[in-house]
Amino acid sequence: MKSNAYIEENESLKIVKFPIFDKYMDDIIAAFSTRDGGVSKGIYESMNLGFEIGDNQQNVLENYKIFSRYLDINYKNIVISSQYHHNNIKVVKEKDKGKGIVRNKDYQDIDGLITNTAEIALVTLHADCSPIYFYDPKNKVIGLAHAGWKGTTMEISGEMVEKMSLEFDTNSEDLIVVIGPSICDKCYEIDEDVKNEFNNMSIDTSSYISFNNKKNKYYPDIPRINKALLINKGVKEENIKLSNICTMENKDLFFSHRGHEGKRGSQAAILQLK
Ligand SMILES: [Zn+2]
Repeated sequence: MKSNAYIEENESLKIVKFPIFDKYMDDIIAAFSTRDGGVSKGIYESMNLGFEIGDNQQNVLENYKIFSRYLDINYKNIVISSQYHHNNIKVVKEKDKGKGIVRNKDYQDIDGLITNTAEIALVTLHADCSPIYFYDPKNKVIGLAHAGWKGTTMEISGEMVEKMSLEFDTNSEDLIVVIGPSICDKCYEIDEDVKNEFNNMSIDTSSYISFNNKKNKYYPDIPRINKALLINKGVKEENIKLSNICTMENKDLFFSHRGHEGKRGSQAAILQLK
């Protein structure tokens, strides 16, 4: 596996971890699930962590129990996003614990979560779209965002920096950011109408989108576009790590929306302050 990410496993479970977060292991828990180690069946086999995509709810809950037990997280303290491919961000507080898992969500259209409260596990869901982890070690603040092409062009990663700064005095220079397993620019094919959405961004993305004129298709590098956006927001380049793991090329290990033609479960990105 690539040097910015590695697989940790026991007899049945495999999870992705990130070396840059290892030195903060006394302060945070950060991981990304794989397909392995759960109880779901069929197209959701086996570690599906999405409740809202047609899987058996008891199996999904059991998957969360297995996944969180391994990470030493209390599953009742998880808070799950409500993803709409937009750039809205929720500040998660003590009263939100369990929402989306053991209690109903009382929010919607939330693709980013931030908190400075310990023992709340933030979760976003992914199957090709980028998970983006934020950690401010100085102020002990964490954030997690879901960024597909829409969230990326709406600059959710920049919004995360702004929101952490506004709510918790985060200085972008202190942020540690990981962009986890996602579909890569060799695999992610888009048409011109989607490509044009990238033209409206605050940064020049032209060097991150290639064109195949035989196929008349464009290929955006979503992780690198987010990285460029974060650098433009003042995050230090050396503090941003890309996993360089493509979900579509590793579809035995990961659910991939494109790779499995929409018939798939979801991975969870998870991040908690200890
Ligand atoms: Zn790929």
